[in-house]
Amino acid sequence: MSHMDGPGRPGTMLLISGPSGCGKSTICRRLLEDDEVVFSVSATTRTPRPGEIDGVHYHFLSPETFRQRISEGAFIEHAEVHGNMYGTLKAPMEEAIAAGKIYIVEIDVQGALQLKALQVEGVYVFVAPPDFEVLRQRLSGRGTETPEVLERRLKKAEDEYRERIKYDHIVVNDDLDRAVDEIRGIAGLPPEVGSRG
Ligand code: ADP
Ligand code: 5GP
Repeated sequence: MSHMDGPGRPGTMLLISGPSGCGKSTICRRLLEDDEVVFSVSATTRTPRPGEIDGVHYHFLSPETFRQRISEGAFIEHAEVHGNMYGTLKAPMEEAIAAGKIYIVEIDVQGALQLKALQVEGVYVFVAPPDFEVLRQRLSGRGTETPEVLERRLKKAEDEYRERIKYDHIVVNDDLDRAVDEIRGIAGLPPEVGSRG
C-alpha cells in the first residue's frame, strides 16, 4: 500500500514497546504492510532457529564481528540477553529516516527506556493490554510459554506497565484494527483502507 500526502511528512523512528504479550509483533506485522514503513532488523550473536533468515529476522553475527561492530560505533544500543549479544544498528535507521520512511523499532521496555535515555529522536509508543486478565489470556493463548515463564512475564508486565508514563503515547490494544489505525495516525499515516474481521 502506498499513499501520496505530499512531501510534508518527514521520516521518523516509531518505537513500539510494551510488556510481553501486549501485541507488539502482531501490530508491527500490520504496520509493515505499508510501503512507507520499514522494520529495524537487530543484530545478534545467537544461532538462527529453524526458519530464521539472516537479514530478515536478525543479522546473525559471530561474537568477533559483533565486538568489532561495537568498537566501530555501529550500534545505537546493545545488550546481553541470556548469554547472547543483541543490538540495534545505527546505519539502516539513518538511511530509512533520510529516505522519509517510518522506521519501526520493536523493543522491550528496558530497551525503550535506554533509547529514551540516549535521547534517540522519535515517537515512543507504549502498547498496553486492555487489562492484565486479557494479557494472561493472550499470553497463554499464544502457547509459547511454559506456565512458569508465563507467571514471570505477567509479574514483569506489572512493573513495565508503570513505565508507560515515560512514553509519548499509550495505545490500548483492545481491538487490533483500531489500535493499528491509532498508531498509524500517531506516525502521520492515513487510516488503513478497508477493515478486517
Ligand atoms: P508481543 O509481541 O507483544 O509479545 P504478540 O503480538 O505475540 O505480543 O501477541 C500476543 C498474543 O495476543 C498473540 O497470540 C496475538 O495473536 C494476540 N493478540 C494480539 N493483539 C490482539 C488483539 N488486539 N486482540 C486479540 N488478540 C490479540
Ligand atoms: P530472541 O533470541 O528470543 O529472538 O530474543 C531474546 C531477547 O532479545 C528478547 O527479549 C528481545 O527483546 C531481545 N532483543 C532482540 N533484539 C534486540 C536489540 O536489538 N537490542 C536489545 N537490547 N535487545 C534485543
